[in-house]
Amino acid sequence: MSILSGLGKFGLGNIEEQNLYGKEKEKVTQESNKPVEVKVPEESDFLYEKKCVCPVCGEEISTLTVRAGKVHVKKVDTDLRPVYEQVDEIKYDIIACPECGYAALGRYFKTLTKRQIDDIRNQICMNYKPQRENKTIYTYEDAKERYQLALANAIVKNARASEKAYLCLKTAWLIRGETERMSADQVSDLEARKKENCKEEQELLKNALDGFVMARQTEEFPIAGMNTVTLDYLLAALYMETGQYEAASKMIGGILTSRSANSHIKDRAYDLKELLAEKKAADKA
Ligand SMILES: [Zn+2]
Repeated sequence: MSILSGLGKFGLGNIEEQNLYGKEKEKVTQESNKPVEVKVPEESDFLYEKKCVCPVCGEEISTLTVRAGKVHVKKVDTDLRPVYEQVDEIKYDIIACPECGYAALGRYFKTLTKRQIDDIRNQICMNYKPQRENKTIYTYEDAKERYQLALANAIVKNARASEKAYLCLKTAWLIRGETERMSADQVSDLEARKKENCKEEQELLKNALDGFVMARQTEEFPIAGMNTVTLDYLLAALYMETGQYEAASKMIGGILTSRSANSHIKDRAYDLKELLAEKKAADKA
């Protein structure tokens, strides 16, 4: 599966082939008569090294984390992706142990059963090549590797569908963030790279959708921190983004007539309904 290819680097090439759901900067110097240096904040200025203990190997590890209150949400995408002004915070959402290879989204990092720890030790840690590099920021490449590693761990520990779906959704957001920042002076084949990213994003959105549909049927709410109405809204958005307009329409209808949906989510559902109508019209044209 292409979303897992690249795990070989960590010695985990055997997981590349696995099925996701299985059974279930820069400084700016201004020169004038009096030299004044204007410093543009660097990405690393928004980060700090958070320390924690790895629940699998017991080592104290540090992970780059965005300082709370330092970055602001500029807008929220249709599928609820928060877009930050200063730093793409999505890049920093995975905690990964450089010693043993255990990785997960921050919200799931500490919750492991004894059996899951054993499975991770046997299938990840045994093969994992420790990574000994001190980074001051995570590039999109670094972040993609961290998400892949978290996905590999999710498969091995037999995580619930919602956790795997949430990982796929966040990886799709990560790739969208990278696509938005791509420019012709950094990449030579800009259009081809963007196209490639869009394809990858689509595959991840589809996987996220599958997992959330599965989670809605089998798990108790809150699911990945979402209540029923929020998850239904997300499903509607994902149906639309993956071209399943009828299913999207049905979900939106349910939210608009729901008594438990608040006005905020209903407003979002109305916006989605309009967007959907535009897409349908565009497809017919
Ligand atoms: Zn560890």
